[in-house]
Amino acid sequence: MIMISYIQYRYGVNQMNLNQEIANAVFPSVTRNLTDLERIYPARSLPVNAMVTRFAPSPTGFLHTGSLFASLCSWRYAKQSGGVFFCRLEDTDTKREISGSGNQVLVELAKYGIIPDEDFVSGGAYGPYVQSERKFIYDVVIKDMLENDLAYPCFCTHEDLDAMRRKQEILKVNPGYYGEYAVCRLIPKEQVLAKIKNGDSFVIRFKSPGNQAHKILITDLIRGSFEMTENDQDIVIMKGDGLPTYHFAHLVDDHFMRSTVVTRGEEWMASLPIHLQLFDAMGWDRPKYAHLPDIMKLDEGTRRKLSKRKDPEAAVSFFLKAGYPFEGFLEYLMTIANTNFEAWRLQNPEANIFDFRLSFDKMTLDGALFDLEKVKSISKDRLALFSTGTITEKALEWAKLYQPDFASVIESDISYFHAIMAIERGGEKPRKDYAKYSDIFPIIDFMYDQYYDQYMKGELPFNPNLAKTVIINVLNTYNAEPSLDLGESEWFEKLKSMATECGFSPSVKEYKKNKEAFYGHIGDFAEIIRISVSGKKNTPNFYYILKILGIEKISKRINKTIALLKE
Ligand code: GLU
Repeated sequence: MIMISYIQYRYGVNQMNLNQEIANAVFPSVTRNLTDLERIYPARSLPVNAMVTRFAPSPTGFLHTGSLFASLCSWRYAKQSGGVFFCRLEDTDTKREISGSGNQVLVELAKYGIIPDEDFVSGGAYGPYVQSERKFIYDVVIKDMLENDLAYPCFCTHEDLDAMRRKQEILKVNPGYYGEYAVCRLIPKEQVLAKIKNGDSFVIRFKSPGNQAHKILITDLIRGSFEMTENDQDIVIMKGDGLPTYHFAHLVDDHFMRSTVVTRGEEWMASLPIHLQLFDAMGWDRPKYAHLPDIMKLDEGTRRKLSKRKDPEAAVSFFLKAGYPFEGFLEYLMTIANTNFEAWRLQNPEANIFDFRLSFDKMTLDGALFDLEKVKSISKDRLALFSTGTITEKALEWAKLYQPDFASVIESDISYFHAIMAIERGGEKPRKDYAKYSDIFPIIDFMYDQYYDQYMKGELPFNPNLAKTVIINVLNTYNAEPSLDLGESEWFEKLKSMATECGFSPSVKEYKKNKEAFYGHIGDFAEIIRISVSGKKNTPNFYYILKILGIEKISKRINKTIALLKE
């Protein structure tokens, strides 16, 4: 008895030969087959529940805040399950490519501590990790699909497709390449072969077995199970330039890179029926899918997606440049990733954020609302918890990249800067002056003479109701006895007695009862000295500022102010 294969049985021996001939004509130099690929990229040996997840950016510009969020989640899911997180570059849309932006994405992820186990710079066993370098893999798969009649060449021109679209519009039927509109499906194979040999241009389409009248059951790890309409479109899998489309490339890559969970943005949800159909057609196990929520923004009361055109905070570089501490920003992203994160944080204020286990069922479904004010407040809390050494080191690291003037100031006397950073740090209620590294310098710049001098060139913000003579008297009185060898409260008592001596009330309450009797109260008195030594009405804790400046600098600054007032 002669055994015949399924293809021979289904399509007849001639058709099978023709399919093979077409496949050979399209890919004359492809010699490998699917079995070879399965051997080159074997199943990963990982614990049973370990997830293999990925981040698959296109090199189209910059790392979007939504992508950082998606990578953070994907990375955590992999790591907390003992699995693998990899990063592949999806660069098959050559028109949209911005060169170098792929590497930039890895650099920015690394700043947040998100380092893939395998990626398009460091490589790995399932590479290459750049789609444009994986053509040899896609070709094998498409060749196999052609041989098995799962795909076919399509010779339609743009004009043909436009005409078809117009016809479909008039007929009010679904647009696209399907059923009776999939005209190239019907070209006799002999003709197809002749056209290829003739050099006619073509794309390759998937031969969808689907029907719009059918529903399929979808399961998404975040969104649960629901029905969607089956795909009936013969989508393009290989473009005219020989590169694959996203739908097809992700299928091949996630299969041969052995992803177990495809974590990606929710905009891909609508294409899921195509992707599942492709996996089934190939006879490959479907990965699980988790469509992550978009990051939304409230814009005049309406929710919309964070947009790279309208919102500076849509780019991760915005947070890097401003110097939001990585720890604060990651903490914020965890609050929008899982609804139970904040409750956990309250219970575990000191714990490492990655002790928290992300879960799919605690992810928001309707888009995570981005709140810059909350980013600031979380960042303030985190920065306040840094030790003096840590904030000194991280502020310097940031300044070197983004504010070189500030970096040179810090480096001019690192222990001086360290002392400034130590002000009211630690203890029960640490001071929360800074939300980001770029907040530091404008608050403390006056501590450095060259910047203090700039303030002194402008109008000093003394109370205009006070006579110059009163101000000068206050300054001379303090200058005579800065009293910085006293502890903070004794020093303040001393200040009060000087205030009294100069005609200011030592108590705000007393002053309010009898305003006419005084020039002002203790706060007004201290403000005069503060303005003189800093050029500003507000500074971090004044006592410590004075101690760090030291008697000599204080005296110089006060004398300079007096001279200016006398001009
Ligand atoms: N390259 C796709 C994008 O940038 C990624 C989709 C995916 O993660 O599968 O949108």
